[in-house]
Amino acid sequence: MVEKLYLCLICGFKGLVQNPLYKGEYQKTFDICPCCDFEFGYSVDHDVRLGYIVTPDHLIEAAFQLYRKQWIESGMKISHPEVIPDDFKNGDCLKFDVLLKQLKSLNLDIENFEINGFHD
Ligand SMILES: [Zn+2]
Repeated sequence: MVEKLYLCLICGFKGLVQNPLYKGEYQKTFDICPCCDFEFGYSVDHDVRLGYIVTPDHLIEAAFQLYRKQWIESGMKISHPEVIPDDFKNGDCLKFDVLLKQLKSLNLDIENFEINGFHD
């Protein structure tokens, strides 16, 4: 049986067992993306340092952006390379053209990314 997997809202890799977004609301799934290592629910609170229960959506999105920026700028290291297809990887890191495709599937406005090395 093939499980249905969901897109990571950070890197766009389809590897989450639970949908981090349900009916427009962010869920605390505690799923960890095998690609960028973001943990939904935990990392959001950890990075933003707010209360556990209620994190306003715009702060969750800011945390997503910050984590994504840090992950890309630090070289897009894959946390579980064994679950990532070989042609997605360059050693232990995600290929840049694969990243672009994944981010496009999230409908992110990558033209306006303020990430070092992104528009070179
Ligand atoms: Zn991810």
